[in-house]
Amino acid sequence: MTRKHWRCYHGQMSRSTHSPSRRSLLQAALAAGAAPLFVRHALAADQPRFALGVASGFAQPDGIVLWTLVSGEGLPAQVAVDWEMAQDEAFTRVQARGREWAVPEDAYSVHAEAAGLAPDRWYWYRFTALGQRSPVGRTRTAPARGAEVDRLRFAIASCQRYDHGRYAAWADCARRELDFVFFLGDYIYENATPADRNPPRRHEGPRCELLSDYRRRHAQYKSDPHLQAAHAGAPWFLIWDDHDIENDWAGNVSERLTEHFERQRAAAAKAYWEHLPFPKSRRPDAWSMLINERYDWGALARIIAIDDRQWRDQQVCPKPGRGGGTTVSASICPEVFDPKRTMLGPAQEQWLAAQWDASKPWNLLAQQTLMAGLNWEPDKSKPPTIWTDGWDGYPEPRRRLLADLAARDLPNTVVLGGDVHANFVADLRVTPEGPIVATEFCGTSITSEGMRQSQLDQALPHNPQLHYGRSEERGYASFELTPGGLTAELRTVNEIWRDDSPVETAARFFVEAGRPGAQRA
Ligand code: FE
Ligand code: CA
Repeated sequence: MTRKHWRCYHGQMSRSTHSPSRRSLLQAALAAGAAPLFVRHALAADQPRFALGVASGFAQPDGIVLWTLVSGEGLPAQVAVDWEMAQDEAFTRVQARGREWAVPEDAYSVHAEAAGLAPDRWYWYRFTALGQRSPVGRTRTAPARGAEVDRLRFAIASCQRYDHGRYAAWADCARRELDFVFFLGDYIYENATPADRNPPRRHEGPRCELLSDYRRRHAQYKSDPHLQAAHAGAPWFLIWDDHDIENDWAGNVSERLTEHFERQRAAAAKAYWEHLPFPKSRRPDAWSMLINERYDWGALARIIAIDDRQWRDQQVCPKPGRGGGTTVSASICPEVFDPKRTMLGPAQEQWLAAQWDASKPWNLLAQQTLMAGLNWEPDKSKPPTIWTDGWDGYPEPRRRLLADLAARDLPNTVVLGGDVHANFVADLRVTPEGPIVATEFCGTSITSEGMRQSQLDQALPHNPQLHYGRSEERGYASFELTPGGLTAELRTVNEIWRDDSPVETAARFFVEAGRPGAQRA
């Protein structure tokens, strides 16, 4: 990171409500008894060391991952980072503390694993390194296994392309005091900002390929104070999608059919792990990273996260000389129906089948993209015209998944997704005439541009499984889950380039326990 970049970060810092000024950092450091460090590292003390903020993630009943990254130049070969976690915001009742060593091999990131915590309660945490103190983050543990839970409040979000808008949605999310945020993919975009476009903010650097490119991109996104506030306000769970690595990648094939794509994939996975509050155990192994996992929220909900990128077959019928998705009629691409095709890979498919929990009132499936069909062909007598990168391009794996769900007769199943830059609320059925098996909320993008609404409006009338389809909305979805029902609010941003844009509820839906399908509320 060059001096020029640091200035840029520092400029962003001074606008952040979470980031103390350099003077207050100095005062905090002196109060913490760190004066000798300032004498020895006078230059080091001159730059903000927590410019990318703090985060927490993957809440368990007794533990949580606390994340930060030591930023700036002139760092030694290893940096001692002390963390503490308290029951109160003033840190008078410290519950846990520890020390991590931040090293350049991991971009000086810290993934501290606080253990031995009490279930179902809020905590505050902060870091100290090189005589500076980080902003304070707020997080919470999950309820104890099997514990009765009256209410869970969470959000889903995805697709926060930095050069497509500002993050007023995150400011709104941070104000909502949610139990957690589930981020469903496209945390960064690998693209360069096109030279012929002049948005109010641009991606720094070229299209990402190398580890240094991806690190720089993550650092740029994380410099945003609203995104920092959303991380500092609640724990996150995350899964990746395509742009975290490259548009429409599938297994080991990239859209551009890059030779040695596994190298790029490994670089992207490394930077992704480094910059997000993943546990140490999720560190990418060569070029693979564990994304699928299951989580419980007491006796109320089982949350299953899957990975439909890493193990999928390549999209069918790509454009000549390309990989990736395309919109195509199944009449000229019958191989889309090949039953041997896979979206999750055989091992993950088997794993998923063992995760559903019929003892809990709610099973939530967190995954990457729209599961309900979106057929662009209006004539019902003709084969469908579909987007091959989504579940529509993998109809047989989707049928297997939904048929398995139907056979289990789970109390209530809700599928959560993103990727398509539009809000969709949908019914999921094994066959068009069959009963509703699950309810789907596919949330729109935080900023990333969607298709024209007029285009989507042409498809909605002959896709009755889609109750709601708004591609011009940007924002996120906020949920309240109780044993009796799930309420969803689609929070939308009025002006995408205004940092302080009003955010309002565009629509509200309710899923009543025992009655699959969303009702407008
Ligand atoms: Fe996206
Ligand atoms: Ca995507």
